[in-house]
Amino acid sequence: MAAATLALKCASVASPHEPTRTGRVNTLPAMNSTPHTAAEPQTLSTGPAWNWRNRFLALGTEHHTELAPQPVPAPHWVARSESCAELLGLPADWADRSDWNALEVLSGNALWPGMRPLASVYSGHQFGVWAGQLGDGRALWLGEIDTPSGVQELQLKGAGQTPYSRTGDGRAVLRSSIREFLCSEAMHGLGIATTRALCVTGSPLPVLREQLETAAVVTRVAPSFIRFGHFEHFAQADGPEALRRLVDFVIDHHYPECRVAPVPAVALLKVVAMRTAEVMAQWQAVGFCHGVMNTDNMSILGLTIDYGPFGFLDAYDPGHICNHTDRQGRYAFSRQPSVALWNLHALAQSLMPLIVNANDALDAIEIYKPIYADEMRRRLRAKCGLATTQPGDAGLIDWLLKQMAYERTDHTILFRRLAGFNSAEGADNSSVMGLFKDRKFSELWAKAYGERLRAEDSVDAERCVAMKLTNPAVVLRNHLAEAAIRKAQAGDFSEVNRLLGVLQDPFNDAHDGTADADFPPDWAQHIEVSCSS
Ligand code: AMP
Ligand code: MG
Repeated sequence: MAAATLALKCASVASPHEPTRTGRVNTLPAMNSTPHTAAEPQTLSTGPAWNWRNRFLALGTEHHTELAPQPVPAPHWVARSESCAELLGLPADWADRSDWNALEVLSGNALWPGMRPLASVYSGHQFGVWAGQLGDGRALWLGEIDTPSGVQELQLKGAGQTPYSRTGDGRAVLRSSIREFLCSEAMHGLGIATTRALCVTGSPLPVLREQLETAAVVTRVAPSFIRFGHFEHFAQADGPEALRRLVDFVIDHHYPECRVAPVPAVALLKVVAMRTAEVMAQWQAVGFCHGVMNTDNMSILGLTIDYGPFGFLDAYDPGHICNHTDRQGRYAFSRQPSVALWNLHALAQSLMPLIVNANDALDAIEIYKPIYADEMRRRLRAKCGLATTQPGDAGLIDWLLKQMAYERTDHTILFRRLAGFNSAEGADNSSVMGLFKDRKFSELWAKAYGERLRAEDSVDAERCVAMKLTNPAVVLRNHLAEAAIRKAQAGDFSEVNRLLGVLQDPFNDAHDGTADADFPPDWAQHIEVSCSS
């Protein structure tokens, strides 16, 4: 039976690169970068006492290719997240145990017993255009393990070529690996749904990007790395059975409540739309810009995934484009919520072989709009310390945001300082209102905000505590990451590790007044972040 087609408001654009739909690629493409000659990794006799589940293997050979990581020479530690290690139930000495040799294993040079490494295949829309088959081009699933926090998948990113590497070298450079590692843990610290990162290891292996850099491997952790693109792939290749198996797998392991719905695939769409709406509100409230919201970078669990040319807003600019490669601004900050909906349409389209009635699919993702709007309103109210809902609140907040956009006020600093607002009539609030050049605005808005706070008998000290738990002192601004990367490239990892500690605890008062919480330096304006990683 032919799948019904959704009338996409944001229909995919015919691609000049429309792929031939032949399903899996079984041969490696030509390499365009440093070949390596190291031997196959050996399986060690012991490792952490995890129960390896390797559930993804059961999906079928259309879904993946089993292959070993490709070793790197002379690996060394760059940084480790002990918070992520705790999530996995690892003991405190996990990295130091000579019998486990975690450094070699998490660099792709050895395996722990129970690991069954594989690369999965997916497709996707990149910058709105159908890109055909992609897949784990440089990520390897090591398997899934039982942990105190449920089943978690472990992945190495940068562990060498796979059948899905296309023209890529399968490697990741130290620069981008530190960015992914720090941002994963920073997002978790901010309370934003994200994949986690256990560690980064480095190697002197040369990797060619715009210039010669060195290789690194990030160990990523998540309950699932399945992306919208996995579904898009099987809507095009291998027939509806492979798609159905993938949907059943995701429902059984991650959304079991969908199993009893009249059409499980519709229920799945709805819950994914809800999760996606929540994570979008989390991003927008904190000023996070992903940079490459292609459908292959959209998690089926609503996690932030694939940290590349991301950025946190310095100045509040709704049109901010963090990815230098995104010349059209498709993924500009203020467009992220509507792009997420576009991506949900692409997911819905891919599930049509299992749904039949297009309206059911469209209705399911419709929930995205009210959930996103409600979540965003709730978060903005919390950012402003408003405990009750009163007429005029939306206008008051909108007025502030418009002025911030007009004056390019620093997003993080403004909301952090707003926590210290004194609501007494005529009080001096220059430490926050002085961030604006427009004196008239400062005076009028402060007056209106003070009145609004008094109208709900807001207690300044209590409100301050609550606002400081929602408005971080520190986010991973580009210049902070850049300073840590420059030192690391010179062999000094102290700044990566120091920054990790700060970012894991971003609401702590101790950061107020430090350089980490300060305005970006002038040189930060010249940092260009692109897809090159
Ligand atoms: P990204 O833009 O990082 O989400 O990557 C898009 C696709 O390209 C994914 O399928 C990646 O696995 C693949 N890819 C990116 N960089 C490389 C690389 N250096 N080697 C192999 N594949 C890559
Ligand atoms: Mg990606």
